[in-house]
Amino acid sequence: MIKNDCIFCKMAAGQVPVTKIYEDEIVLAFLDIGPVSDGHTLVIPKQHFEKLHDCPQQLLGQVGSCLGRIARAVEVAMSSDGYNVLCNNGRAAGQLVEHLHFHIIPRNSGDGVFNRWPAYKYQQGKIEEIAAKIRRSL
Ligand code: 5GP
Ligand code: ZN
Repeated sequence: MIKNDCIFCKMAAGQVPVTKIYEDEIVLAFLDIGPVSDGHTLVIPKQHFEKLHDCPQQLLGQVGSCLGRIARAVEVAMSSDGYNVLCNNGRAAGQLVEHLHFHIIPRNSGDGVFNRWPAYKYQQGKIEEIAAKIRRSL
């Protein structure tokens, strides 16, 4: 499952150079070319899936099981105070490359990379209504 016009598929196939961090049969991890902090790493399944929910459960498990190990290595190597693991799904959520990928972004206190998102409170009764709607979609 390789998509011809997909840059990440080309990387997985060895047709485009990457600064590799880790590779096995299923997963490739490499440095992001446009980092938001030093050590910003991308972890991808080698097969092409656009969004998280497109990736079969077992394969997703294999990708997920690598994430912690790679994140730890990034944190240790960068001597960072923490990291974000981000997965943008869909244009509206900021996904520019339509091949499933997880960002590992090393963070340091006060680095200003992200600010808190604009959280708000649910109106009375709304939280249960929304939870029920999501449960019905499972
Ligand atoms: P998205 O916004 O889709 O979640 O993030 C895509 C990421 O892929 C961006 O952070 C971008 O810098 C990175 N990226 C795009 N093209 C390339 C490339 O050719 N090489 C590498 N290493 N990273 C890329
Ligand atoms: Zn792809």
